[in-house]
Amino acid sequence: MKDINTFIFEFLEDLLGDGGVEIASIIGKKESTAEELAEETDMKINNVRKVLYKLYDHRLASYRRIRDKNTGWYIYFWKLDFEKAPEVVKNLESNYLNKLEERLKYETSTMYFVCKNTCMRFSFADAQEVSFKCPSCNETLEYFDNSKIIARLEDEITAVNEGHEEVA
Ligand SMILES: [Zn+2]
Repeated sequence: MKDINTFIFEFLEDLLGDGGVEIASIIGKKESTAEELAEETDMKINNVRKVLYKLYDHRLASYRRIRDKNTGWYIYFWKLDFEKAPEVVKNLESNYLNKLEERLKYETSTMYFVCKNTCMRFSFADAQEVSFKCPSCNETLEYFDNSKIIARLEDEITAVNEGHEEVA
């Protein structure tokens, strides 16, 4: 069984990317400004802010702000707020699971075709409509084997479902 923090960080990694986890682990320890985090992680300040807003959106971070007397601008001090994290993670996870299942449905709903130059993928109906010729490069469309995509989606769905059980 994974411990809940490992699980949360793995989840954050998916949600925020590598830099996001780095930021999350730094602000976990102390209150920091975006500028401080950018310096510590060597990330661009805009990327740091993006991660912070994402965390904030998911109620995983909060801030305290004070007005700088010299500039009149607000300074934001961020900190992580993982109290609600298990709940948030569960919600995110079920959204993610829905997306995976939608994608799986899409992949298994029809046969797909693709041109040699991989301009576009066509469903059977769409391929029929263009007489199996790519509208942008005029190549003949060929059957597209999406069985690997389907297998990957199924694996991921299984993994997420097993994660549920481990945390619950
Ligand atoms: Zn093409």
